[in-house]
Amino acid sequence: MIDFKAILEKAESYRVEMSAFLRDMIRLPSESCNEKEVVLRIKEEMEKVGFDKIEIDPMGNILGYIGHGKHLIAMDAHIDTVGVGERDLWNYDPFEGYEDDEIIIGRGTSDQEGGMASMVYAGKIIKDLGLEDDYTLLVTGTVQEEDCDGLCWQYIIEKDKIRPEFVVITEPTSLNIYRGHRGRMEIKISTYGISCHGSAPERGDNAIYKMAPIINELKELHGNLKHDTFLGKGSLTVSEVFFSSPSRCAVADGCSISVDRRLTAGETYEYALEQIRNLDSVKAAGATVEMYDYKRPAYTGLVYPTKSYFPTWVLEEKHPACKTLVDTYKGLFNKKPLVDKWTFSTNAVSIMGRFKIPCIGFGPGHEDQAHAPNERTWKDELVKAAAMYAAIPLVYIQTIIHTSQG
Ligand SMILES: [Zn+2]
Repeated sequence: MIDFKAILEKAESYRVEMSAFLRDMIRLPSESCNEKEVVLRIKEEMEKVGFDKIEIDPMGNILGYIGHGKHLIAMDAHIDTVGVGERDLWNYDPFEGYEDDEIIIGRGTSDQEGGMASMVYAGKIIKDLGLEDDYTLLVTGTVQEEDCDGLCWQYIIEKDKIRPEFVVITEPTSLNIYRGHRGRMEIKISTYGISCHGSAPERGDNAIYKMAPIINELKELHGNLKHDTFLGKGSLTVSEVFFSSPSRCAVADGCSISVDRRLTAGETYEYALEQIRNLDSVKAAGATVEMYDYKRPAYTGLVYPTKSYFPTWVLEEKHPACKTLVDTYKGLFNKKPLVDKWTFSTNAVSIMGRFKIPCIGFGPGHEDQAHAPNERTWKDELVKAAAMYAAIPLVYIQTIIHTSQG
């Protein structure tokens, strides 16, 4: 029998330490590709609470291990943040932040350095209470998620050669259990023309005019995209417009647009690209339709190029990883959790979307705080998440033993 009460009490006893650690992380600005300082701060805290092994890989991801058992279970927090946006919208310094008995304000509190604070103290709780078993818990603090979700885990799986049995994504869920979200991709559509003097446009071929009907047809396409009962509808929007022209007094010889496409269940990148290539306006204009590439260097200088494609994922409710989280939640809080999905995208796009390693979400903080001014999180949620993370590995071991016997 797992002593859930003892785990909760232990988590509560670290409320102050968790809050202080989170505020330290918030004080270190860590936008994508500039996470070095915060990674070193996390390493210090992992050492302090007694992680068994700590590594920083060539991409700059930090990997902390608890235990030496056979079953590898990972928990992930990306530790980069977005920028602060319009500074005047903040009532507090986004890095110095603010704290009272209930909340902590600052960039990265909900999205999602709070998850990291809870995970590190889960490691401490496991050590304090001797909750180790035939598992190894891997706690990852990953880089560049806000810039290219999942790239960090493409590296961890392909280059670090690490393949956990499942991964808990600790992005904010308001302490609900999330088992999927839509995928996404970044598409570039280009039209080509011939420039000439603007005083005699009939001598040329205007690439911007060729793009106009494409934009209208895309708007219409958005309304007709596939719907899925759990994940909802696919969507698209035109997010950027570019042009090339010799002068303001000329016919434009090039035009391109970016499309943010959200993919629901059953929509792959091939499908989404073909769908656009088959539009009448795209064919008539002879436009090209392609995916963007991502190749921004990590803070370590490492470049690991990838396509800007982030596949959809959904974990079945009856999967042992989902069942483990539901049982842990019931054990700790004595009530049924809400099992739902994220609206936004997470590192699970590569872990489960590309590599089919099961993912399941549970995190402190709220999704609507992500990227918002005066972003905040709740101390109660940090404590409860730490208790969940400490208990999950042991509940999982009992779940799979039970399943294999039954
Ligand atoms: Zn996030």
